[in-house]
Amino acid sequence: MRPIYLDNNATTPVAPEVLEAMLPFLRDNWGNPSSAYAFGHSIGMALDTARARTADLINAEPREIVFTGCGTESINSVLHSALATQPGKKHVITTAVEHSATLKYCAFLERQGVDITYLPVDGSGRLELDQLRAAIRAETALVSVMWANNETGVLFPIAEVAEICRAKGVPCHTDAVQAAGKVPLDVRLAPVDYLSLSAHKLYAPKGVGALYIRRGVKYQPYLIGGSQERGRRGGTENVAGIVAFGQAAEVARAKLESDSARIRALRDKLEQQILSAIPGVRRNGAAEPRLPNTANLSFEGVEAEGILLMLDQEGICASSGSACTTGSLEPSHVLRAMGVPGDRARGSLRFSLGRFSSAEEVDRLLQVLPGIIAKLRQYAPLPERAGFSATAAR
Ligand code: PLP
Repeated sequence: MRPIYLDNNATTPVAPEVLEAMLPFLRDNWGNPSSAYAFGHSIGMALDTARARTADLINAEPREIVFTGCGTESINSVLHSALATQPGKKHVITTAVEHSATLKYCAFLERQGVDITYLPVDGSGRLELDQLRAAIRAETALVSVMWANNETGVLFPIAEVAEICRAKGVPCHTDAVQAAGKVPLDVRLAPVDYLSLSAHKLYAPKGVGALYIRRGVKYQPYLIGGSQERGRRGGTENVAGIVAFGQAAEVARAKLESDSARIRALRDKLEQQILSAIPGVRRNGAAEPRLPNTANLSFEGVEAEGILLMLDQEGICASSGSACTTGSLEPSHVLRAMGVPGDRARGSLRFSLGRFSSAEEVDRLLQVLPGIIAKLRQYAPLPERAGFSATAAR
């Protein structure tokens, strides 16, 4: 049986038209795009088309797109490049709620003596732009701020972030991995210097990413080898994956408005009905501006892992806002940065809908979830239930 998949921020299925577009490049057109003969050249042309389509998704020029191996590589490479191309500058500004692709690379840089400022967020997961203005220094090599948060869906004001950086002459990167295909992205309106994308969040396969590098901006390659990607990323291209990325980007652009309106209505129904049917539930993060597909909810007096197990038994996939490390449940760094108390954070779930989510699937969730929560609360140890009240804020 097909699962009810409400975890589209983790990954998405490959869309049928995307699979169709990529298959010929696995079956028949398997040549090397860098080869001089016609069999290779035609494949190079398919890469050009994919590059143009991917550029269109963010209103960039094709030559400003470099294909990479994943979103993580795009992000790591920008951080690497900013420091390598500005040797006198040893300061990076990011936020406390970024994906680990940014945070763990920053921790690695800190161990090499780079100073990192982690901008805080407020209780709704919002960024204070005055804190960004105050944090920029003469030795700041890069500002890296995500477009949309993967756990709460909260959107950051990237156009303003980019303008602040531009006024101060500091390069600006945004991790737009979760925003792509869900909200409009335009690098002319939000003038960032670098932007990271990942194909598998866009109904294309895993293991393909893209990096936008504004024309004229410095870039030091991260993977050094052949002269692929105009010398900006060594390594023979993942042709089928890149073709799939281009196809997915084109579909995402064409369907952006209709998909997001439909998905938003489904998400709002899911969220409102859970809040009204189950006592002791709160939304984590601002209601707006937020990705149209994401709802992050805390269930008082229960552990997210218990809910996820019981949902799994019903064939429903969702995700917890906590990371399980060495057997102990660590509250999510995003919720912690928002000041969400530990017990509330440990009871938080993320539902993320997608293009293939249906009203029937949401109804099924709404049918089983109240019973699951009631059962878990009944079995929760008393201290867990202390302080729980049916009239708790929603
Ligand atoms: N950035 C964000 C916000 C993400 O959600 C993810 C994936 O979960 C990534 C970066 C990493 O992308 P990839 O899985 O392609 O390395």
